Amino acid sequence: MSRVLVIGCGGVAGVAIRKCCQVSEVFTELCIASRTKEKCDRLAADLAGTTATKITTAQVDADNVDELITLINSYKPDLVMNIALPYQDLTIMDACLACGVNYMDTANYEPEDTDDPAWRAIYEKRCKEAGFSAYFDYSWQWAYRERFEKAGLTALLGCGFDPGVTQAYCAYAKKHEFDEIDTIDILDCNGGDHGYAFATNFNPEVNLREVSAPGSYWENGRWVEIPAMSIKREYTFDQVGDKDMYLLHHEEIESLALNIPEVKRIRFFMTFGQSYLTHMKCLENVGMLSTTPVNFEGHEIVPIKFLKALLPDPASLGPRTHGKTNIGCIFTGKKDGKEKTYYIYNVCDHQECNKEVKSQAISYTTGVPAMCGALMLLTGKWTEKGVHTVEEFDPDPFLDALDRYGLPRSETHAPVLVD
Ligand code: NDP
Repeated sequence: MSRVLVIGCGGVAGVAIRKCCQVSEVFTELCIASRTKEKCDRLAADLAGTTATKITTAQVDADNVDELITLINSYKPDLVMNIALPYQDLTIMDACLACGVNYMDTANYEPEDTDDPAWRAIYEKRCKEAGFSAYFDYSWQWAYRERFEKAGLTALLGCGFDPGVTQAYCAYAKKHEFDEIDTIDILDCNGGDHGYAFATNFNPEVNLREVSAPGSYWENGRWVEIPAMSIKREYTFDQVGDKDMYLLHHEEIESLALNIPEVKRIRFFMTFGQSYLTHMKCLENVGMLSTTPVNFEGHEIVPIKFLKALLPDPASLGPRTHGKTNIGCIFTGKKDGKEKTYYIYNVCDHQECNKEVKSQAISYTTGVPAMCGALMLLTGKWTEKGVHTVEEFDPDPFLDALDRYGLPRSETHAPVLVD
């Protein structure tokens, strides 16, 4: 029996909400609140009569802490699920603290305006000290640790697939498979085809910022940064086949390096087709990925926001995407003094997702873990107070829930390793 406030009503939130409504014995009441209330109303109307969950909707600007506080105090939820954008993480955490409510999200904080001088000064210092230059990092949200702990509240960060399930896979490997983990390779393969020359599978602005940035990996206690897309490997993925994959910076590397301190190397690879990379490079070269406003015929336009308006909405890709995703982690390490390897992953079919929840598999593989993370908090399986990432919690009930609610794990003890 619980009341949950979901903020955001895009591709990922749509899946998470539909999945919550499949577990209405836990998610008894749900309020969907977003900037564009019509989207919330449309989803609520679509779900009417299909679930016992009582759904209401609301309009909120999640950049505005006072608006959030008013909404949270009037709805009185047990948990706020932030499935808007990473730009809203801090304002929503502030509001949760003010109202005494648990918090969770699917991506760590990054600012919308990367030209803001106050943010930029802190960012540039971090780049020098930490050794990686991504716009996003955990420091902003880890700064809330003491406040959440003192308030007796939990903030669960990054509970999608990657970040999210990948960290639960690491916690599982550490708990059941290894005494000591030496290396972790996180492999994110999307073998899906939507038929467009160019589209992104989640929010284009956040996605393009991430994949056009320099890559980096963790090795022997420090970050190694490389030019974007400069490390490429080929890998044969179960049920997908041969794909080219590229080393990216990814947020869970940062928390895993902290929480599995013996690990010597952590890398993250994502598959991309040549057409995607060529389009992205071209857009970058002409300035369309820039977040700095330009003046166009008397209007101020942010190029990447204008591009977002031109690209297909990721939430609309469900019916036309065919193929499968395969996301997981390969480990090397030691158990009982012997060297061993282990690969745990999930394979998800785009069309199956569309049949079930009217979505492609990228939103599905993010929305289902968000629902399962909420389930862990609401049913008392994860009770740690403070600000935590997924690998800090017991992976067993979470992976059992994923098996049950649509993202079952596969494993092998003889994987092909990535060189
Ligand atoms: P969308 O752009 O599809 O949806 C974002 C939603 O947030 C929209 O409903 C949007 O409203 C709403 N929103 C944006 N700004 C505000 C605001 N100021 N106030 C209230 N609502 C707002 O994004 P996705 O669904 O693709 O992604 C959602 C999140 O999931 C992102 O943080 C993304 O980084 C993360 N993600 C995580 C993954 C993982 O594996 N961990 C993988 C993929 C995504 P409007 O309709 O008005 O635009």
